[in-house]
Amino acid sequence: MGLLQNKTAVITGGNSGIGYATAADFLEKGAKVLITGRRPDAVQQAVDALGNGTDSFIADQGKIEDAAKLAEYVRDRYGKIDILFVNAGGGKFGNFADVTEEVFDSMMDSNLKGAFFTVQHLLPLINDGGTIILLSSVNAYAGMPGSAVYSATKAGLNSLGRTLSRELAGRKIRVNVVNPGPIDTPIFEKAGIPREALNHELLAARMPLGRLGLPEEVAKLVSFLSSDEASFITGAEYNVDGGLTVHPLIA
Ligand code: NAP
Repeated sequence: MGLLQNKTAVITGGNSGIGYATAADFLEKGAKVLITGRRPDAVQQAVDALGNGTDSFIADQGKIEDAAKLAEYVRDRYGKIDILFVNAGGGKFGNFADVTEEVFDSMMDSNLKGAFFTVQHLLPLINDGGTIILLSSVNAYAGMPGSAVYSATKAGLNSLGRTLSRELAGRKIRVNVVNPGPIDTPIFEKAGIPREALNHELLAARMPLGRLGLPEEVAKLVSFLSSDEASFITGAEYNVDGGLTVHPLIA
């Protein structure tokens, strides 16, 4: 019997990268999975590739009305769910002085406000004893130049996770936060950093384990935290960063 047998999961931003890899891992471990995304073609492609047991719903995490529609769909289709993985996110990097209000609002809307209201709308549908995982980043702590808005959105998620873990403990809903380091996904290109310019070799050389992480390596932690094997873990944060955070000065 799979680790997540008989569980139903919702993953936001499941058409790519960590969300997609987690959907694949959840399915392999026996869960039913609904992924969300904002681009119908990309979402459909992911559903086709993930295969049996995958459902989808088009929702932009930056729009609160979409969170309400998602909750309505989930209620009608499943009644209750066991796992909510709030993974959707991304953003642009650049000098603090150049950040416009528009860029600030769009990243806050998608990464923090949208995550907050996604949890709020889906919470009544999460079974007692269920689990919520928020996908943050080591950027929440790293002080990386050029990441002021992105890092602030992620730090907000770490705070939200701690608060919710206490608020929801009465319902035995466990809430945990995962902080990845650099993981090899399309997020860099989407942030305006072309693959050639990213200089994977230089980045890898700064990592104690000598490489970027794989989305599957984050997915395995999310699966564990979502399972009953993690039954006494709540209000916690885990780095998946190849040792970057504890050795930030290693070049
Ligand atoms: P990715 O491959 O770009 O995946 C991000 C997913 O979220 C995509 O499916 C994307 O859809 C979706 N998404 C983004 N904004 C959305 C919105 N407003 N509404 C709905 N869906 C949205 O990147 P990833 O690396 O897997 O990122 C997953 C999460 O990990 C993000 O929260 C990111 O901040 C975090 N993270 C990543 C790294 C890293 O190094 N890769 C490190 C730390 C944290 P589209 O395809 O339409 O863009």
